[in-house]
Amino acid sequence: MKSELVLAALLAASLTACQTNPVSGRSQLVLVSEEQAQASSAQAYAQTMSEAQKKGNLSTDAALNARVKRITDRLIAEAKLMYPPSRDWKWSVAVIDEPTLNAWCMPGGKMAIYTGIVRKLNLSDDEIAQIMGHEIAHALLGHGRERMSRAIAMQGGMVLGSVVSGYDLSVLAPVADVALTLPNSREGESEADRYGIELAARAGYDPHAAIKLWEKMSAASGNGPPVFLSTHPSPTNRIEALNALVPKMMPIYEKARP
Ligand SMILES: [Zn+2]
Repeated sequence: MKSELVLAALLAASLTACQTNPVSGRSQLVLVSEEQAQASSAQAYAQTMSEAQKKGNLSTDAALNARVKRITDRLIAEAKLMYPPSRDWKWSVAVIDEPTLNAWCMPGGKMAIYTGIVRKLNLSDDEIAQIMGHEIAHALLGHGRERMSRAIAMQGGMVLGSVVSGYDLSVLAPVADVALTLPNSREGESEADRYGIELAARAGYDPHAAIKLWEKMSAASGNGPPVFLSTHPSPTNRIEALNALVPKMMPIYEKARP
């Protein structure tokens, strides 16, 4: 495809692809539908899982798996109330045994947390809830679709052509992979912080842990930034913004705590 045609197609797609997110109310540029995003994520997730299994990297630590499952189950229950369409998502969480400081939640609720982040940051249950709450918030807020849209724009004509003309999911799968390595926008980060801390409070997890988590994260970036920070760039006032949210979140937490 000629580059002018690609540009024209991209422009046409952009013009028709501004949507208001139902959770945040923010207008987003999206070139992929929720269904496409979920289908390509499911495919990318299955591939990630099968590769991790081949390498023997799915954690067999039964206690850690149970702990992560218990925390994310409580967050998922609240996510379904915050964004009702997520009741139909095929939620799932994996614990990947790799030293990376990382965690994510794809569109459609496919999540993973790495043993590296749990062990190196010595995360408490409240801190795990904050990190997964933040990740789930990204998914509820449609940030994965925004990142995929950027991956499509980056990959150019071939992929874009097939997206515009049809729903070739085999082409979209690598887009889901690429999207996972792209940084969220700072605006997206602020939104995920805001909704993530609330999700965790509603699930009965201490809002103060959000501040502690990001303090630990920035302390860990001494030896080169963790993967997590490269995909989650810090809004300049992250800790202050979270601190300002704590008093509003405390009554929610007090009501929900076990
Ligand atoms: Zn984030």
